[in-house]
Amino acid sequence: MRALILGGTGEAREVAKLLVDDGWHVTSSLAGRVDNPKLPVGEVRIGGFGGPAGLVQWLIANGVEVVIDATHPFAERISVSASEATRATGIPLIALHRPAWTPVARDRWLPVHSMQEAAELVARDFHHIFLTIGRQQLEPFSHDPHNLYVIRTVEPPQVPLPARHRLIQSRGPFTVEDEKKLMRDNQIDCVVTKNSGGQMTQAKLDAARELGIPVVMVERPKLPAVSHEAHTAAEVMEIIRAL
Ligand code: NAP
Repeated sequence: MRALILGGTGEAREVAKLLVDDGWHVTSSLAGRVDNPKLPVGEVRIGGFGGPAGLVQWLIANGVEVVIDATHPFAERISVSASEATRATGIPLIALHRPAWTPVARDRWLPVHSMQEAAELVARDFHHIFLTIGRQQLEPFSHDPHNLYVIRTVEPPQVPLPARHRLIQSRGPFTVEDEKKLMRDNQIDCVVTKNSGGQMTQAKLDAARELGIPVVMVERPKLPAVSHEAHTAAEVMEIIRAL
């Protein structure tokens, strides 16, 4: 029984463990963006497939019987590839995406639908902006010459950055106290984040709420509809048993 997990998330590593424990031959696939990724159990391959057509070839050559798309909810292209390649081959696809965050009392969220919209909003209305959006979509903020941007990434950014910035290279998880200290020390008046969901990176939202700081929340892209959807690794296992 052979499974391909499209990974790069904690949930993908959880599914890999559950499937390996259940006797499956598991290959987890990573994009190769991070230098020292946390590796799941089972086999690991790294790098793109070459679009949907390349993925189709890989699935056939490796006798894959089920694909689990456990990629980050903002990793849009690989999810489209998974959807197209499984439709073409008839291999079942299970999409595992953690639930989105939703605001609670005292949250001051400003929802936007793109990074461009976020950049325009913060350049107009804020001064000390905390960008916690990864390193790939920083470019829209680079056109603001006035405001200060505190940019936290795991790996160094390789795109143009705003003229006034402070870089913090660090990998979570962070505590609420860590996040409050960072926000206070840098006089942050706005946090920009993607609506990734999950516990791992939630502390920044709790910290912003406690300090009364607005959060520009970039909403998730619309991913292709799939017939099997799960929110947790355990739900993936239930679907696989039912299949
Ligand atoms: P993306 O825009 O959807 O993917 C761009 C290209 O990278 C894809 O077309 C594919 O190349 C390759 N790729 C992406 N994920 C892959 C995987 N798991 N295995 C093999 N190839 C993959 O993705 P992204 O936003 O750059 O994210 C890349 C990876 O980082 C994902 O695996 C995701 O789970 C993880 N990640 C992303 C974020 C985020 O905010 N975007 C946050 C945390 C982790 P080909 O077309 O050549 O197959």
